[in-house]
Amino acid sequence: MSEKLAKQLNNEFNEKETVETLKALAERFEEKIVFTTSFGVEDQVITDMIFKHDLSIKVVTLDTGRLFEETYKVYSRTLEKYSKPIHPYFPKNEQLEKFVAEKGPNSFYASVENRKMCCHIRKVEPLGRALAGMECWITGLRASQSQNREGLEFFNWDSGFSLVKYNPLLHWELEDCRKYVLENHVPYNVLHDRGFVSIGCAPCTRAIQPGEDFRAGRWWWEDNSKKECGLHKH
Ligand code: SF4
Repeated sequence: MSEKLAKQLNNEFNEKETVETLKALAERFEEKIVFTTSFGVEDQVITDMIFKHDLSIKVVTLDTGRLFEETYKVYSRTLEKYSKPIHPYFPKNEQLEKFVAEKGPNSFYASVENRKMCCHIRKVEPLGRALAGMECWITGLRASQSQNREGLEFFNWDSGFSLVKYNPLLHWELEDCRKYVLENHVPYNVLHDRGFVSIGCAPCTRAIQPGEDFRAGRWWWEDNSKKECGLHKH
């Protein structure tokens, strides 16, 4: 597998409907296809498509232990609505206990190094386990979320995790996602109604003002150039 595969899939599915593509991918990759959700509005659209059509795609989430209570509510409501499993991946307790013992519970505000280490332990390492053995990773990335996502394609080769990454909502706008969840009665995070757009861990996420960049509510105390958590290269 390589970039060639991503190119081939882009050609093959360019004109296909999202649900048709998801169905075809579920068949093609069998047990080796996974969707990671953080219960944002984009992710809820994809979850609805997967569960409603009973697609055999594993749905997983990274439970960092620092999520908003509102996020856990969406998690519960999603389980209730679809009666399908969403597999949580937690940080490794030894690593996290050592880190918090040495640095304290909120060390991410003190330095970029601490923040990156916290993201590594709570998100990147568990993501590595969630993606181990997988060949296709579905995400809720949209092109308009940030400038460095503008060059994204539907299918991209992720050299870090050695798999093909599929972004079904690439050309959706935030409003399209909101409309979809309302029309389809999909549970969504009420923080979206309070100005939160990209919702991650509670201590590191805040609402944005109209006109502010999509990522302005994440790690707002850091330089824009350093705002990466290591999950997505885009
Ligand atoms: Fe830690 Fe904040 Fe990263 Fe969450 S977003 S893993 S709390 S630094």
